[in-house]
Amino acid sequence: MDLLEYQARALFGEAGLPVLPGIVARTPDEAVAARAHLGAEVVVVKAQVRTGGRGKAGGVKLARGYDELAEIARGILGMDIKGHTVEEVMVCPAAEIAEEYYFSILLDRAAGCYLAMCSKEGGMDIETLAVERPEALVRLPLDAHTGIDENVGREIAARAGFPEEDHAALAEVCQALWRVFRDNDATLVEVNPLVKLADGSLSALDGKVTLDGNADFRHDWSAYHASSGETELEKQARALDLNYVHLSGSVGIIGNGAGLVMSTLDVVERAGRDLPGSPKPANFLDIGGGASSQVMANGLRIIMSDPQVRSVFVNVFGGITACNDVATGIVHALELLGDEARLPIVVRLDGNSVEVGKAILEEADHPLIRIEDTMDQAAATAARLASGL
Ligand code: GDP
Ligand code: MN
Repeated sequence: MDLLEYQARALFGEAGLPVLPGIVARTPDEAVAARAHLGAEVVVVKAQVRTGGRGKAGGVKLARGYDELAEIARGILGMDIKGHTVEEVMVCPAAEIAEEYYFSILLDRAAGCYLAMCSKEGGMDIETLAVERPEALVRLPLDAHTGIDENVGREIAARAGFPEEDHAALAEVCQALWRVFRDNDATLVEVNPLVKLADGSLSALDGKVTLDGNADFRHDWSAYHASSGETELEKQARALDLNYVHLSGSVGIIGNGAGLVMSTLDVVERAGRDLPGSPKPANFLDIGGGASSQVMANGLRIIMSDPQVRSVFVNVFGGITACNDVATGIVHALELLGDEARLPIVVRLDGNSVEVGKAILEEADHPLIRIEDTMDQAAATAARLASGL
């Protein structure tokens, strides 16, 4: 889960990292009020969107008088930056920048460890720098247990070529960013630029934080979820612990295992291509292995409460959980749902105990259930039903 800049800067502040104050505004009037509140002569208006490169896109601008500020805020609010619409800006006192540095900590999946990266040449062209002069970007693998202590912090500063007199302050910053990374279960913490101000002090001017969704259970991230743009159905699904992503089509999808569900999306998309209205998948829903009938019922309920859905495709490969358990789960789920179950359900079972599973469904003889033998046939039937044929 990606945080917005102001949320990242709040975490930096809590970890003892120097950040400038900032106030979020949703209208030009609010931006003007924010400036009055900050009491700053010159402010910077920054688009709050979950993507980088805002500066180059015109989403970060300095404003002097009140009129200029209102005009700039009006221009940035509503702007589209790489497919993200700007709904909020952050107004901050403008920093007097002497130098811009780059610093990040991330989970290096290929190497299977955490990695710290640092460069004396931060700012908007860091991607070019990384490609053209990779030696100017220091990479230091971190020990997950110790992370960044004072020694490691000093080593990063030294390797990145900072003058000796800056090492102590930079080591402090590196340690604070490690605390942000560790204490919030992040997979990425990036500060670009980390700036040296005119008075010689350091400040984290920009912040990017990605949190590990798997650690959700041990944090209160409700405020982040609330601002994350998740749909009502996704919110309900999360409360039920379902791995659900809302999409735009009309064929509801349930499967076990993320890989199988993703191929199911592809197969349904292809099956619907030449049909009237080109029906597409309505969602991603992985109920995982060992799904109980309650989980199946929860999944079916979420999918059927999506007004766009016209048919449901249940695609299960029986592994540790055998097909007979899945079939029993579907039958129980329909009993639990009663009248709430309103749409045709196309079921394809394969794998462990498939024959027993099919026999259970046949015996239940539920008017909404249709059994198909293969994934392609089932996708074709579900797509056809969704297009009203
Ligand atoms: P990004 O483009 O999305 O990474 O947004 P940043 O927050 O990093 O801002 C882009 C650039 O705008 C920075 O690299 C700075 O050069 C500049 N900038 C941002 N805030 C300030 C500020 O307070 N004062 C000045 N002078 N420049 C700023
Ligand atoms: Mn930046």
